Amino acid sequence: MTVQSAMATLGPSRRWRNWGRTVEARPAAVASPASPDEVAAVIRTARERGLPVKAVGAGHSFTAIAATDGVQLDISAIDGVLAVDGTRVRLGAGTNLYQLPALLAPHGLALANMGDIDRQTIAGATATGTHGTGLRFGGLATQIRAATLVTASGDLLRVSESENAELLPAVRIGLGALGILVDVTIECVPAYLLHAVERGERLDAVLDEWLDRVEAADHFEFYAFPHADGVSTKTNTRLPADAERHPAHPVSNWIEEVLVQSGVIAAMCQVSRVVPDVLPPLHRLATTLQGNRDFTDASPAVFTSPRYTRFREMEYALPVEAVPDALRAVKRMIAERDLRIGYPIEVRAAAADDIWLSTAHGRRTGYIAVHHYFRQDPTRYFREVEAIMRSFDGRPHWGKMHVRDAGSLAAAYPRFADFLAVRDRLDPERVFRNDYLTRVLGV
Ligand SMILES: Cc1cc2nc3c(=O)[nH]c(=O)nc-3n(C[C@H](O)[C@H](O)[C@H](O)COP(=O)(O)OP(=O)(O)OC[C@H]3O[C@@H](n4cnc5c(N)ncnc54)[C@H](O)[C@@H]3O)c2cc1C
Repeated sequence: MTVQSAMATLGPSRRWRNWGRTVEARPAAVASPASPDEVAAVIRTARERGLPVKAVGAGHSFTAIAATDGVQLDISAIDGVLAVDGTRVRLGAGTNLYQLPALLAPHGLALANMGDIDRQTIAGATATGTHGTGLRFGGLATQIRAATLVTASGDLLRVSESENAELLPAVRIGLGALGILVDVTIECVPAYLLHAVERGERLDAVLDEWLDRVEAADHFEFYAFPHADGVSTKTNTRLPADAERHPAHPVSNWIEEVLVQSGVIAAMCQVSRVVPDVLPPLHRLATTLQGNRDFTDASPAVFTSPRYTRFREMEYALPVEAVPDALRAVKRMIAERDLRIGYPIEVRAAAADDIWLSTAHGRRTGYIAVHHYFRQDPTRYFREVEAIMRSFDGRPHWGKMHVRDAGSLAAAYPRFADFLAVRDRLDPERVFRNDYLTRVLGV
């Protein structure tokens, strides 16, 4: 593709908003390349015009990490399975996670672990360190075995365990700062089922047993209600693909996912804007009404569920042992400051890994995520929670709201300077810059 035709592919400016409605941008131009060559041509054109370039995935980051006033690259046309070699699957970088069950089924494969939704693209999810739960399982980026980028010079760069291998720990979680990913090779696992057990329990008991429970289970997580002592625990156990399935009853699924997780919480948030004192009794009621469920289904159906209500989110990664004290501190703070918080607090865990900017770098990790209804201002709540998380040596999720900058993040990541050196090498002119990257990485 020539530069002229690449210029022709730069579509007109249009308003862009992220899912959480925390970020709005008006890119100077939008391009929808369908091949690595077209990506390269757009990058060269943008550079000639002095415009930065930013790929956007599904816009599910709450931070401004995907925002640009330059050229926005929509790579959704670069998707699907490009090659399969045993359990290794090369995917177009714009593949959405919800496409994967159908794409991987013919090969009898699945992702080793997933977060709680499947809307993201594989490039966007891995670039920000998206994770699920399970102390024996790393985040999605730990499954990356190779990737192809188009660099700032417009060249194709292959990174794998045998090609430019020294770049792999940076490229796996690259924050969109190192180049445009056009494909990603993921280590999948044979397809499996999950037996899910959901229970209503007491917070103190769950926190007292936290370490034992995350160590014993394949995938353990819980949701704590800010104004009640109850928690909803989820324990998923891996089973072979030919085990007997007992999918959740559609009515119980609707009650849990639509009515409780989205409808009731949204209603609570709406009502509490007018009558703030309604939340504590409603949370106590919700913990009493909570149903216990057991079901067995294919892993993506158990890991993920739809989100019908918009919210804002901040999530911090802590040493896994720190979770009970940190969560108790958050609950104490909410009571002392007399805050009214509708959304439950989500608590998960992940294995340690060696990716330079992974929130789980070098330590077994517990995650505490706080949410706030999108029509309410989360500033005070998130600021107070962030102060607590920092006192426990917390690292913020790159795609979720936080106020940290390069100065404080450098101290949280032992290989931060190595990542910056790779950025200097691959993008010395900062073609892939935006305000968020300048804040969290420095110039
Ligand atoms: C409802 C909801 C639930 C969520 N649940 C979880 C969860 O369970 N666990 C978790 O960890 N996170 C979760 N997240 C956060 C989410 O997974 C991440 O923020 C992720 O980045 C979103 O992927 P995306 O495709 O929307 O990427 P975007 O937000 O569009 O982009 C993210 C970054 O990736 C870059 N990027 C995208 N494509 C490319 C490319 N081709 N090449 C280079 N860079 C690229 C962008 O430039 C940007 O820097 C959730 C978010 C929401 C809104």
